[in-house]
Amino acid sequence: MAEEKSFKYVIIGGGVSAGYAAREFAKQGVKPGELAIISREVIPPYERPALSKGYLNLANKATVPQFYVCAGDGGERQFPQWYKDKGIELILDTEIVKADLAAKTLVTGTGQVFKYQTLIAATGSSVIRLSDFGVQGADAKNIFYLRELGDADHLAYAMEVKEKGKAVVVGGGYIGLELSAALKNNNLEVTMVYPEPWCMPRLFTAGIASFYEGYYADKGINIVKGTVAAGFSTNAAGEVTEVKLKDGRTLEADIVIVGVGARPVISLFKGQVEEEKGGLKTDAFFKTSVPDVYAIGDVATFPMKLYNEMRRVEHVDHARKSAEQAVKAIMAAEEGKSVPEYDYLPYFYSRAFDLSWQFYGDNVGETVLFGDNDHKSQKPKFGSYWVKEGKLIGAFLEGGTPEENTAIAKVARAQPSVESLDVLTKEGLSFVTKI
Ligand SMILES: Cc1cc2nc3c(=O)[nH]c(=O)nc-3n(C[C@H](O)[C@H](O)[C@H](O)COP(=O)(O)OP(=O)(O)OC[C@H]3O[C@@H](n4cnc5c(N)ncnc54)[C@H](O)[C@@H]3O)c2cc1C
Repeated sequence: MAEEKSFKYVIIGGGVSAGYAAREFAKQGVKPGELAIISREVIPPYERPALSKGYLNLANKATVPQFYVCAGDGGERQFPQWYKDKGIELILDTEIVKADLAAKTLVTGTGQVFKYQTLIAATGSSVIRLSDFGVQGADAKNIFYLRELGDADHLAYAMEVKEKGKAVVVGGGYIGLELSAALKNNNLEVTMVYPEPWCMPRLFTAGIASFYEGYYADKGINIVKGTVAAGFSTNAAGEVTEVKLKDGRTLEADIVIVGVGARPVISLFKGQVEEEKGGLKTDAFFKTSVPDVYAIGDVATFPMKLYNEMRRVEHVDHARKSAEQAVKAIMAAEEGKSVPEYDYLPYFYSRAFDLSWQFYGDNVGETVLFGDNDHKSQKPKFGSYWVKEGKLIGAFLEGGTPEENTAIAKVARAQPSVESLDVLTKEGLSFVTKI
C-alpha cells in the first residue's frame, strides 16, 4: 500500500485559482514541504481562457508554457521548476476520489492517502454534456466539449483533419461565440445553433447581441436561433454527419462543438459542506462551514458585498482574486490577525476575431446603448449601461482602450446617480470618462 503523505496545506485542483493560490502562498513565505497541489490534469496550472483563444489559433498557436499562470495578470509564469524552487509539491495526473473532511483525509484514484491541516477546494467546473439530457447520438465521434487542455488538443486535431469541413456549434454563450470564431479562422464552414432569441442572453441585451450577430454573419457564420440539437446521425465509423434540430431541420456536420454551460465540481464535499446556489457556501474569507476547509474560484458561493447577496462567479478574475484572498486570510489567521472582507466587483471579458469587450458590475435594471454599434464599421466602439434605482451599476464596452476600460470599471464600482436615461445615452462613453 502507498505511503500516507501529510501536508500543512493541500489544494485539490490544479486550475487557475490553484495556481494563483500557490503564488500567494509563496509571497506569504510558505515553507518547503508545507503545500501540495493535487490535480487531475497532467500539466501545471494554466490560464484556462487561453484554450478557446490563442491555443486554437492554429496558424499562430499559443503554446502551453506561454499561458502557465500567472501570465494572465502579467505575473511570472510558473513552470514546474517554479514549484520545485518554492518547495511546493505539484502532484499531477492524480484525482482525489474521496474527501473525508472530519478525518482530514483525501484518497486518490489509486488509493494513495493524503492528510492535511488546511484544505482548499479549487475543483472548478465541468461541462454540461448533451448526453446528460439523453440527446440521441450525443456520444458520436467528433462531438467536442472544451474545458481542459486535452479537450483543446482533440479539437485542434479534428480541425486539421476536417479542414474546410462543416462545423456546427451548439450554444450561443462564451464558448459558442469564441469557438465559432476559432473554427472560422481555421477555415471551417460554421453554423451556430441556440434556442434563445439572441446570443449570450445572460449578459447581452438585444442591442449588444445584434452587433455580434451581424458581425458573425458578415464573417460567413450561419446563425440558427430558436431551436436546439435534438439528435445526431453518424456514419459507419461512428463519426457525426448531421445534427438533427428540434424544429425538424437538419445540419450537415463534420465537427460539432457543444458549449451549453458548466456546473461546479462539488461532489467530493456533498453532505459535508454547507451549499448555496449550487456551490460551496463561504464567508468573505472563503472559509466554508467546515473548520479549516476553504473553497475558491468557480465552486465558491460567497457574499458579494457590493450587492449584499450570495453569488457564485464562473470567471477567471474572481478565480485569481478569491485565491489570493483565501491564502491571505489563512496566513493572517495563523498569526491571530485578519484581512479585510472580500469586496469583489464582477468583471467579465471576451475576445474573438478583432473584437474585444469588457463588462463590470451588475447587469440588472434598465439599459441604454451608446456609441457606434454598426457591425460594418471599420472600428466599432459601443457600450451599454445598466441603471437601477437611479444609479449606474453595470457597464459594457466593446473596443475600449485600456483607459476607457478602467473608467467603466471605476463607475461600476462608484455607482454614480444618473439624471436620465436620455442624457446617459447622449453622453455615452463621455459620461464615464469625465468622472
Ligand atoms: C475554454 C474556456 C474559456 C474561458 N474563457 C474565459 C474568459 O474569457 N473570461 C473569463 O472570465 N473566464 C473564462 N473562463 C472561465 C475560467 O477559466 C474559470 O472561471 C476559471 O478557470 C475557474 O478557475 P478554478 O480554479 O475555479 O477552476 P479550473 O480552472 O477549472 O480548475 C479546476 C481544476 O480542478 C481539477 N480537479 C477537479 N476535480 C478534481 C479532483 N477530484 N481531483 C483532482 N483535481 C481535480 C481540474 O482538473 C482542474 O485542474 C473560460 C473557461 C473555459 C473552459
